[in-house]
Amino acid sequence: MVDQVEEFDYVVIGAGSAGCALARRLSDLTGARILVLEAGGADERPDIHDPTAYYGLWGSEVDWKYETVPQPAADGRVIAVPRGRVLGGTSSLNGMVYIHGDRRDFDTWAYLGAHGWSFDEVGAAFNAMEGRGSYRDADAPATGPLMPAVVSNRSEISQVFIDACVEVGIPYNSDLNSGDLMGAAWNESTIFQGMRQSSYRAFLAGIADRRELVVETHALVQGLDVNPQGEIHRVEYLSNGRPRAVHVRREVILASGAIDTPRTLLLSGIGSASELERVGVTPCIDLPEVGRNLVDHMLLGVAFGATREIDNKNPNITECCAFVKSNDAVLGSDIEISMGKEKNFVAGYDAPEHCFTLIPGITRPQSRGSLTLISSDPTVHPQIDPRHLAEPEDVHALVRGIEISREIANSRAFRPWNAGEVAPGNHVTSRELIQDYVRSVATTWFHPVGTCRMGVDSGAVVDQRLRVRGTSNLRIADASIMPEIVSCNTNAASMMIGWRAGDIIASEL
Ligand SMILES: Cc1cc2nc3c(=O)[nH]c(=O)nc-3n(C[C@H](O)[C@H](O)[C@H](O)COP(=O)(O)OP(=O)(O)OC[C@H]3O[C@@H](n4cnc5c(N)ncnc54)[C@H](O)[C@@H]3O)c2cc1C
Repeated sequence: MVDQVEEFDYVVIGAGSAGCALARRLSDLTGARILVLEAGGADERPDIHDPTAYYGLWGSEVDWKYETVPQPAADGRVIAVPRGRVLGGTSSLNGMVYIHGDRRDFDTWAYLGAHGWSFDEVGAAFNAMEGRGSYRDADAPATGPLMPAVVSNRSEISQVFIDACVEVGIPYNSDLNSGDLMGAAWNESTIFQGMRQSSYRAFLAGIADRRELVVETHALVQGLDVNPQGEIHRVEYLSNGRPRAVHVRREVILASGAIDTPRTLLLSGIGSASELERVGVTPCIDLPEVGRNLVDHMLLGVAFGATREIDNKNPNITECCAFVKSNDAVLGSDIEISMGKEKNFVAGYDAPEHCFTLIPGITRPQSRGSLTLISSDPTVHPQIDPRHLAEPEDVHALVRGIEISREIANSRAFRPWNAGEVAPGNHVTSRELIQDYVRSVATTWFHPVGTCRMGVDSGAVVDQRLRVRGTSNLRIADASIMPEIVSCNTNAASMMIGWRAGDIIASEL
């Protein structure tokens, strides 16, 4: 039973990385009446704000606790898919690394049909949402609320990593967010004044007094009611478990992330009609690619004993990394190696008392998977099958990542620190054994994207203005719309998508 019906111009579903940036931008530009519905609660846990404490958040009540089906090419393992279920979404439990992406990433989006999303165009959005005082574009001073920065109190071993990279021929890159990722560099983090700056903290917490912008927590949307004309006039949801509804004057924007946005569409009958019928959902719009094109980065640890205690002055997991290529045929980089200061990074291996880990991850994976419903019951988790490592190129790139990591760790710069390889171990030298190691330990980098791909072709789920095909007032603004995964960590691009969605929607008024 619906007990109250209010009217809003826009209803945003999800207060995560993109949703908070979108609500802020839309509110700034239009002053419209906006409702943000977030399934999770307020970000009250102290460990959300403490940048050293995020491991405890994964698998807790602020995580949706999804997991993959067994992954045959990864030794049949089931791999966790953490997703934030709290104000700030996944930006409230992520590793806080903040990297925009390579110029080629966004120019590829534009080339694939996402007009308006080239590097130069998305650069303006990055610039506008950041507020550090721009050193990239002096003509467009950054005045936005997000304050990413390179941490100042760096650990000694991170400098060793940078020196080692340069020694083995990886150039120093003085600004990872310049559009060229190649090289070893200090990365920025979403840590401000010693605390995590989630998307909610950056974009919405400071404007909580705006009467026209309402954020409702514990508000779960289980499906959308799209009429035969492709319009949505009303959004129904569970507010603390009780049915509730609001009227929509203009638009609904799904910002529920790469897992929940396609899940909600499918539960609403928007997806492959034949597959929906098989699970008992009445099809409404036949869009076969909803939930397809699921792509994620994979990484693993190459761990070493250390001759001394690793100073972990900084709270963030990594403060520097190196972008390299697995072979000369690749344009740009396809491997990111992070310098890990944490112990026990490799599951199944005992870390010695002092230890450091180089963490190579593949940034341009070839494997593609899917997300499908197995039931029309909205409480049943969808089937998530990223097909991790299914394409041999991904295994080869990770093997190469291990080789380059070993080269870095065996450099002169690391000699006073390196007490010997722990994982995979010095005995693991043949290609076969290294591949076995990859398949047995590689895991998600937590970057699933692409399940509601943007494009101009008939298979794309949204067009370049983020409108869902076949509907007239439904858009998507989150990581699910990426036509190709960015070749680095995905949070900055997700927030940029939200911010730019605000620009696009406001420009149509
Ligand atoms: C453990 C971990 C570490 C990571 N580390 C990094 C990192 O260091 N750097 C980096 O760049 N990226 C990192 N990422 C990835 C990055 O954080 C994500 O790509 C990004 O946050 C995705 O943003 P989004 O807006 O698409 O989704 P989300 O931020 O997940 O937002 C979706 C929101 O929608 C809400 N929602 C979902 N369904 C519903 C519903 N039905 N009704 C109402 N609300 C709903 C969710 O609760 C959530 O708040 C990490 C991810 C994880 C999981």
